[in-house]
Amino acid sequence: MMRRFLTIILFLSFTLSGLLSAQNLSFYFPDEIKQLNPDIPSPREFLGFEVGEQYVSYDQTVSYLRLLAQRSDRIDIIENGYSHERKPLIFLVVSSKKNLERSEFIRKQHLDLCNPVKSLKLSVDTLPIVTWMGYSIHGNEATGVNASIVVAYILAAGEDEFIKRILDNNVILIQPAQNPDGVQRYAAWVNSNKSASENSDANTREFKEPAPSSRSNHYWFDLNRDWLFVQNPESYYRMEVYYNWLPTFVNDFHEHGNTSGTYFSPGIKNSTNHLIPDDNWDISRKIADYHTKTLSKIGTMYYSREGYDDYYTGKGAALPDILGGVGLLYEQPNPRGFVREVDGVKIRFADMIKNQVFCSFSALEASVEMKNELLNYQKRFFIQKQKEAQKDEVKGYLFGSSDDLSLTKELVRILKVHKIDIFRLSKDLSINKKNFKKESAYIIPVNQNNYSVIRTIFEKTTTYKDSSFYDISTWTIPLGLNIQYSELNDLSTLVGEKLVSEIFSESYSVPLTHYAYLFEITDFYAYKFLYYLQSKGVKLKVSDSPFSINRGEKRYGFNTGTVLISVNEQSMGKEELNQILNNYISANKIDVLAVDNGTGDNFDLGSGHFKPVTKPKIALLTGKGAAYSIIGELWHLIDLRFGMPVSLIDIDNLATIDINEYNIIVITNSFRLSKEAADKLSYWANSNTLIGIGTSYKTLNELNISEINISKSITKEESKKDGSFYDYIKRDNSSSINGVILSSILDMSSPLSYGLRAKEIPLFKEGEIIITNSKRGYITPLIYSENPLMSGYLSANYSSQIKGTPAVLAGKGLIYFVDDPYFRAIWLGSSRLFMNAIFFRELLAKEKVLTEK
Ligand SMILES: [Zn+2]
Repeated sequence: MMRRFLTIILFLSFTLSGLLSAQNLSFYFPDEIKQLNPDIPSPREFLGFEVGEQYVSYDQTVSYLRLLAQRSDRIDIIENGYSHERKPLIFLVVSSKKNLERSEFIRKQHLDLCNPVKSLKLSVDTLPIVTWMGYSIHGNEATGVNASIVVAYILAAGEDEFIKRILDNNVILIQPAQNPDGVQRYAAWVNSNKSASENSDANTREFKEPAPSSRSNHYWFDLNRDWLFVQNPESYYRMEVYYNWLPTFVNDFHEHGNTSGTYFSPGIKNSTNHLIPDDNWDISRKIADYHTKTLSKIGTMYYSREGYDDYYTGKGAALPDILGGVGLLYEQPNPRGFVREVDGVKIRFADMIKNQVFCSFSALEASVEMKNELLNYQKRFFIQKQKEAQKDEVKGYLFGSSDDLSLTKELVRILKVHKIDIFRLSKDLSINKKNFKKESAYIIPVNQNNYSVIRTIFEKTTTYKDSSFYDISTWTIPLGLNIQYSELNDLSTLVGEKLVSEIFSESYSVPLTHYAYLFEITDFYAYKFLYYLQSKGVKLKVSDSPFSINRGEKRYGFNTGTVLISVNEQSMGKEELNQILNNYISANKIDVLAVDNGTGDNFDLGSGHFKPVTKPKIALLTGKGAAYSIIGELWHLIDLRFGMPVSLIDIDNLATIDINEYNIIVITNSFRLSKEAADKLSYWANSNTLIGIGTSYKTLNELNISEINISKSITKEESKKDGSFYDYIKRDNSSSINGVILSSILDMSSPLSYGLRAKEIPLFKEGEIIITNSKRGYITPLIYSENPLMSGYLSANYSSQIKGTPAVLAGKGLIYFVDDPYFRAIWLGSSRLFMNAIFFRELLAKEKVLTEK
């Protein structure tokens, strides 16, 4: 009896909450959908709730789509990897049963269509089109993943001619959630804060997900900026599927924060990347007609041709455009929860899912009706690009150096992801004062199928049609890695054999010594080795000057920043120490020299020129107002690349925890600290090191830890003083620094330079912070060059303001970086300065010239 009573109560409460937000599934169906195969389980049958009634979690999405793939002969499933949080990455291949049975043949035919050598004889008439549907790359834009379930269900179960025609003419690749970790996080937040009764009050928790938002992935990266750089597993495995098929028609489903209505491509015509053919915009415009027709029918307000652009090729709607596809971006107003009210307008989760589903099917309708036009466009694209490649004055790019094999390998890895052929250099070559050795340098001839991707990876750009950018204005990858590279105008006699496998380093071991070991830290991953040794209790010293030693007939020269391990100063025996070294060296090539006495040419190994290197204990400050994208990058750098623990400390906890646990605290933005926390941090900074980045100077100045002065810049206020409102909007864009590559000069005597061989360092600058030389007399180990612009859009005003100003300041207890040193995880070059600050902070800060006020 009791149980029965409970059941009734539960049933009632479920029904009530269901009534408030549930829609029948048919609410999401385009008019053409009338008959459904009852053998295919609907989302509700599997999930226990109707689409739109809860935010579907990533785990539920995977389980349901696996079931669909099992039950339907129209769906194959690909699971090829995992996200950072070990969520399986899944892709559906959806088509008619007949097409799926010969999907490998279709795939190969399609790739042949994208290859000018093979495409001439191919007719597109009998070939299905390959359409890509990517949802929710931003985890908190969850209408995408919720819509993907409906789209997959309709495609699996739909019995109408409309669906059959789509399936007969298409191979549809669906990635239901391109950011699994973010999608999971967001669903948990919204569902756990949902009320049973409708509450559209934007102030309630449901709409106020705390930072870092689940737009980003585990390490707080925006995955929609990572298509080209492929620094995250989500991107890597996606590109594997993408290149396997080279889709013709690519749809990328998002949400935007405003209420202007649904956006779909094409965007601003003038801001299209020069590598994208002009007719791409026109075709997008033609496809847009299908969306206007569908959305008009259901009364959805929409817009196009403004607000977004296809300039930065590292995004999901733009990279396809340089691979012969047509990439389309969709943005729905963001409901943030179930029903959000903005200026009296209610934005409903269910309505926005419906918009996503309708846009998905209008895209699929376009894919059928424009199939041959789109396929011929893609075929023509690769033929045209081959001609452009042949006419290009740049015949190839040369890169690589043995000084930093790891960064050379990293560029090789990125190029391989993008299916670009790499060749060895056939002989040593000097070009523009750069020396390339045949063992460590590689050539990329531009005359390859993925010509445009090669160009976008290597080219510098300094001329623009328009000075406003939705994203960054430049992204030259070898500058980001800071590796030696050069354009080549003639390849004859230079191209060696094709690189087919990974670059392997031969294994190596260091002999036992009773005296000392020496090694340089030129390789990027040397920091991993340093921390590994410290974590095993090995005491390290570093030389503050260059030196040389003679052993037998041989002279060994060492640069500043060479690391010394004195056997006698260790707590472990010489055999154990040798074992610790070899355990690492056997798997990671580092040249370590064993010496049996301490005599040097200019100074000996017992000299005061060798300074102790203390083990870093790092905290990154997070909390309200934190620059989470930069913090996430540094977390990724320190934790994932170098295997070093790093604590993420919320500023609200500063007052209560023991911060003496850390000898480095990194602060990446301006914070409002309580008096208690501020006093504690100031006191702590007397004997430890703060590393500040970007706007953190405001907090550091307030705490009187620094006195960093900002150069008076052309402010946005000034730019709007006169002229019409329209002029103001135009000028406002050009008065910002939207992401540009600037050259800086490194003081090669500074500990910041350890391991680096060239004094010019490319920096990525985003934002308008320009500082002056401080009155307090900091050291300025890094300054912007006299002619700083390397690539990107920088107004002449800014160029003259920035030249010669400090890019890094160092003084007592503080090292301050003006710019993000590890932008989007591709700026590995300048991240080395940050890592040097981490390991050699005491040497940098020791040379204090701070004059007390
Ligand atoms: Zn988005």
